Amino acid sequence: MIQNTILKETKFDIPFAKPYITDEMDYIREVVESGWWTTGYKTAEFESLLVEYLKDNEPLYCTAVNSCTSALFLSLKSLNIKEGDEVIVPTWTFTSTAQIVEWLGAKLVLSDIEKNTLNIDVHRLENLITSKTKAILPVHFAGYPCEINEISSIAEKYNLKVIEDSAHAVGTKYHHLRIGNYSETTCFSFYATKNLAMGEGGAVVSRNKDIIDQIKKIAYLGINRNAYRRYDKEDSWYYDVQQLGYKCNLSDLHAVIGIAQLKKLDWMNDKRRHIVKIYKDKLHKDIQFLKDSEEHYHSHHLFPILVPEYIQRNDLINYLKSKSISTSVHFIPVHQHSYYKTQFNHKDFPVANQRFEQVISLPNYPSLTDDELDYVIKNINHFIRSK
Ligand SMILES: *Cc1c(COP(=O)(O)O)cnc(C)c1O
Repeated sequence: MIQNTILKETKFDIPFAKPYITDEMDYIREVVESGWWTTGYKTAEFESLLVEYLKDNEPLYCTAVNSCTSALFLSLKSLNIKEGDEVIVPTWTFTSTAQIVEWLGAKLVLSDIEKNTLNIDVHRLENLITSKTKAILPVHFAGYPCEINEISSIAEKYNLKVIEDSAHAVGTKYHHLRIGNYSETTCFSFYATKNLAMGEGGAVVSRNKDIIDQIKKIAYLGINRNAYRRYDKEDSWYYDVQQLGYKCNLSDLHAVIGIAQLKKLDWMNDKRRHIVKIYKDKLHKDIQFLKDSEEHYHSHHLFPILVPEYIQRNDLINYLKSKSISTSVHFIPVHQHSYYKTQFNHKDFPVANQRFEQVISLPNYPSLTDDELDYVIKNINHFIRSK
């Protein structure tokens, strides 16, 4: 152990996000040496382990893919969303959730958010529904679950499908059940910075086996059987293209990193929650936090704070940068990006516009040490007191 006194003089360099690495290299070495690097038995093993982790009493099905973006796209595609249809997406999300709607030629309808969670505002949802609306894509921002019960009842009333963007919420529970068991499909991201990281990767899960079978097929060029089965000694070389598909399969090299990460996911999520608790105890009282609740299990993928009005958000970011502390902003609302500016009216999103001026995501990951955390908190508090 390094002495505290030495650490204080050491120059900290605190990244915004960092994967938690233990035995990943052993898993990767095994795949590299096996000679089978692409989609194969390791991907299949990851799929069953993920389902085992997420499910309750009802069976759950899964297709692992190369990203959450693919998972969302393939979900909408399998529901036959097309030109003339409308899909509702919160403006507070990563661009993927919005772009995939247009990939299918459908119309993107953006929703404003609820100010305490930054999740889709369920009270405004019905105003956005037209006779062309086919689906809603709620995002569990930062890992805090959306109002799934309310969203489901609205969806039922208007006969809409719900596809959850669960990029932040692997392990999150809505009441006592993990996210993944509620909607038509739920899409996870295993991108490098996410709670369960593979570098690049994703998954679609559903209680509906037919949807998952269909997605599995279109995720691999509409081919009826996976390549690894064809190369099995017992099996045949023959395969058939049964429909038009895409190439979104996950490789075994990525999947094994996921297997290693999944084993410690609950521990990693608890660690993030613990860090958040310390932040909340020790940060300056003028800093506000988003909603949390005892009713749910929050994965705390992100820890966004809301800076007080007398602080310029960017001044704090730059100050922290000068102290070698990296932060980030989640999210630049979709409607504020150049590409979308002409399609949407800025004034339609008052909550997102206001929150965007205030929000900063602080470093929050399992390997963040007590001393590093203390250093981040002290620097933020010092900056605020100086104003
Ligand atoms: C990261 C992220 C995605 C995209 O995930 P990829 O796996 O990189 O495609 C989608 N939605 C949200 C909310 C995200 O944060």
